[in-house]
Amino acid sequence: MGESATTTDAVQVFKLVADNPIMRRTLSALSKRCSRDEGNRLEIALELYTGVRSEACFRCRVAKKLLMPVLKAATKAFGVTEERLKEKFKDPYWRRGLVNVIKGIGWFGVTHPYVPGAPFQIVWNITRACNMRCVHCYENAGAPGEDELSTEEILRGIDILGDAGVLILAFSGGEPTVHPDILKFVKRASERGMYVAMATNGLVFSSRERLKEYKQAGLQFAQISLDGVNPKTHDEFRGVPGAFEKTVEGIKNCVAEGLFVEIATTLTRQNYKEIPALIEFSDKLGADWFMLYNFVPTGRGAEMVEADLSPEEREEILTLCWNKMKTMRIDVLSTAPYFARIAQQTELGDLSQDELLARMAQQAGGGGGDSDVVPTHFYNPKLSGQLRRLADFIGGCGCGRFYLSVEPNGDLYPCVFFPHEEQVKVGNLLEDDFEELWRNSEFLWKVRDKDRLADYCGSCRFRYTCGGCRARAYNYYKDVLAPDPGCILNREYWVKLKESVKTEYTVQETCQGDLILYRKT
Ligand code: SF4
Ligand code: SF4
Repeated sequence: MGESATTTDAVQVFKLVADNPIMRRTLSALSKRCSRDEGNRLEIALELYTGVRSEACFRCRVAKKLLMPVLKAATKAFGVTEERLKEKFKDPYWRRGLVNVIKGIGWFGVTHPYVPGAPFQIVWNITRACNMRCVHCYENAGAPGEDELSTEEILRGIDILGDAGVLILAFSGGEPTVHPDILKFVKRASERGMYVAMATNGLVFSSRERLKEYKQAGLQFAQISLDGVNPKTHDEFRGVPGAFEKTVEGIKNCVAEGLFVEIATTLTRQNYKEIPALIEFSDKLGADWFMLYNFVPTGRGAEMVEADLSPEEREEILTLCWNKMKTMRIDVLSTAPYFARIAQQTELGDLSQDELLARMAQQAGGGGGDSDVVPTHFYNPKLSGQLRRLADFIGGCGCGRFYLSVEPNGDLYPCVFFPHEEQVKVGNLLEDDFEELWRNSEFLWKVRDKDRLADYCGSCRFRYTCGGCRARAYNYYKDVLAPDPGCILNREYWVKLKESVKTEYTVQETCQGDLILYRKT
């Protein structure tokens, strides 16, 4: 039996062990709260398994025993040793993540792509209030909204997310630091076991003293927006003179205070030529990650659709970023899901689906060399050996699957880049049963299923590691399953788009043959 056959068998064994009706019912039952040990029973079982705790009630100890076959099969299937698994899951956030994964198997089975037992990340636009006026703002922010939740309601919402097992809670806005009770929210989220992040314009963090208050409350991750290395580009985008200087000060303070720092930029026609320099600048500032946001024509962005790059321009800049990252300390991530396709094509050549699978099987069986980095929105995991096969399960657009967004009034959407329209609203955090929505929302199941996508995304060999940006598809076509016209493999849809929107837009072809949409005045 060849190496790859052995690997395939191991994965089949894992599926047989974990994905059968009896085990799934068992895992489902184990994912309830234990009132004696005051926690999720799965989490307590994992604490016993990793040695983080030695005492627990009889039921939790039984839970640990019941969990063992799944953990053993997983270590075999994905080629990790039990010691490595135990070491990794001593970290409370990794443990919380694993509980989520196991709960997902109990509820949904081993789906492809994978759906966990709760979103890994929630981005909560806590207020619409903002101290800047960005031209591309997806939230159309300015003054606070009239229907925003009260402080008590927000705290209740945080508890709901904590109980559901959400791993990362990212406060965004508007500008989250403008909310008078933001520190209370950071503290509560941290106390409820969530990793707390914040997406901010960085103005407040230009004061080191203020930043220390956030850190003390439990803030661990700061995402700060910077739109160019040229102060003029940034200030014009932000609509505030002098913003660049303060934002850079804020970044430096976050680095000095030891927060995990991500510098974020929205990719538009106005700034894309500055991106390579911006990555270098971010690297020099000491940031950990550079995040390239894909432009989505929503919020105020809908009024400037001409800012969207052509597929050719996007391909060029993402390829450049991928290659640049390989030579730098800083990690580059992108919300453009085709970044994963570009990474695979750059590293492996333009392989067919069969060739791609063969290559993965060969590497999984130990035939490959170095590990592959598989870009996802929130992390660039380095996968080697059998772990490479995880890429198809975790990759691609994570909306409604790894990720949900909450609006200032508690409304839930699959991603912050969806417009606030009834057809794409998932429900409300305080008015609906969150767990029920996550398990049974028809709309969520629609956006999760990559096999239901319309062509070309639907038949694309990269649909599991990419799948196109569903928010872009919806904003351009009002159809969440439509192709994402920003990808070069969908160029014909970008071309057709100009026909379908010609009443609203004009299209210009550049001398390089790129097509650019301009909204008619
Ligand atoms: S065609 Fe769709 S799924 Fe394929 S790489 Fe492009 S955006 Fe991704
Ligand atoms: S819809 Fe998907 S690809 Fe687009 S920004 Fe949201 S999570 Fe990312």
